[in-house]
This record gives sequence, structure tokens and C-alpha cells, in this order.
Amino acid sequence: MKLVTYQSDQGPRIGVVEGSQLFDSGFDGDMIDLIRGWSARRADMESAVRSAAGKPLSEVELLAPVLRPGKIFAIGLNFADHIEESKMATPEHQVWFTKAVTSINGPYAPVQIPKTSGFVDYEVELVAVIGKGGKHIPAERASEHIFGYAVGNDVTERFWQHRTPQWSLGKSFDTHAPFGPWITTADAVNDVHGLDIRCWVNGDLRQKSNTRHLVFDLFKQIEHLSQAMTLEPGDIIFTGTPGGVGAAMTPRQFLKAGDVVRCEIEGLGQIENRFEAEA
Ligand code: ZN
Repeated sequence: MKLVTYQSDQGPRIGVVEGSQLFDSGFDGDMIDLIRGWSARRADMESAVRSAAGKPLSEVELLAPVLRPGKIFAIGLNFADHIEESKMATPEHQVWFTKAVTSINGPYAPVQIPKTSGFVDYEVELVAVIGKGGKHIPAERASEHIFGYAVGNDVTERFWQHRTPQWSLGKSFDTHAPFGPWITTADAVNDVHGLDIRCWVNGDLRQKSNTRHLVFDLFKQIEHLSQAMTLEPGDIIFTGTPGGVGAAMTPRQFLKAGDVVRCEIEGLGQIENRFEAEA
């Protein structure tokens, strides 16, 4: 099932997408409420599609599927080709940083090029949304804690990222975590570690890989993170980007106002964001 948060006349609501149609779910809570009560509410979602009148998806504004996750974690240096282009060593331990929850952004919304600096870069990534929370989750059981998947762009301000040892500020600018366009529930994805992943800038293919090339797979990521903290419903994990980022090109290519970045993952859809100077 594909679940969206969309803008209605009454504010954000949850919808179900089938084909090119959107159906209101009839559910009055937000996505995190839905995830918490998923097992009891799933049947209602399915009947909403059968009973509600759909409207064309193209006429609806899609918002970030989870508008305010409790936390956003992202792993660095998790594809071999990206580690090589970054001229870094393959990490012995998983390298984690946070993205501020205020960086969340919609799948087609503008992304800001900050006033303070202009070294903005793209990173297409598989995004996992936590379903059942937990602590000390073993990798073998991690799949039981995943609600679903989406496409994300871990937008990064490279100067702020690298001028200190801690990356989180350079990863946390407002609007720098667009994701969506919907959450594809985990049961609808056959093998999350076998999906083609691609990114285009103004139509030029820049990143192209497959999630089978993750250094630390998603299940090991959940095992590792949950040794430190309790994962909760609606928490967001960015699982790492492949090679091809602008900072590694010769000469380096950073995003400028007017650029359009499209990120796509096989079976999960695509997001597309136009970059604009911060007002
Ligand atoms: Zn990243």
C-alpha cells in the first residue's frame, strides 16, 4: 500500500494512492498516529479505497509523508563508490549523524540554498520509516520494525559539513530533508536490498547504483542504532548515498537557484525538488 500525507482544505490528511488516483483515508490523525495503530487500522485504509471517490494525484499537493518525525538519523560513507570518491577510509563502525526534524520537506517542494553559504549538494537515499518501536533490535528481526520505505534526498551543505568534525549542522538546514512521494508499506517491497537507485540534476544522470551495494545493510543499521536509543514509530532513517555527488566531480558542481534534482528508487517512486535561494 502507498500512503501519503496530502494538503486538503482542512489541512494535512492521510491518503492512499492507487495508480494515478488518491483516496482520502477517512482517518483523522497524522501518519505517526496511523503507524502506531496500523494493525487495527489497515483494513479501514483498504476499504477507504473501495468506498471513497478518488481524485487525480496530479491535482493534489503531497507533503512529507511524516511531517514531524521524532528523529531523523542518516548514515555516512555507506556505498563503496561514494567512500572512494570522498577519499575516506571504509569505516570500521557505522558513521551516524542526525538531520534536524525541521529539515523535513515535501517530495516536490522547493529546497533552499542557504543565505550563509552556497555549497549545496544532493544525495539520493533509500529512506526507511520505523513502525514498531524497540531497543536492542537484532538484525534478524529488524524487518519486523520497518513500517515502510520512501525516496529521500539527504541535501547537504558541504562547507558546513566539513569545517568541523561533526556533520550534523551541514546536514540540518531547513528544507534539506525532502522525502516521499509516499510511504510504500514494507509488505509491498520484495527485497529492499535489491532496488535500483538514481539521481538526476537538470536531467543529467549523476548517481546510479542499487541498494545491494550498501556497506552496512538496513537491518544492521537498525541493530546498531537501537543499541544506543529506542527507535519509535515514525522515526526516519536515511540509509546512505552512492557515488556521483557534486562535491566529488571535477570541477566540483554545487547546486544553484533554478536547478531541479530528481531522485528515484525502483518501485518506490520519485521525488523532484527545485532549488531556490533562501528568501
Ligand atoms: Zn547521506
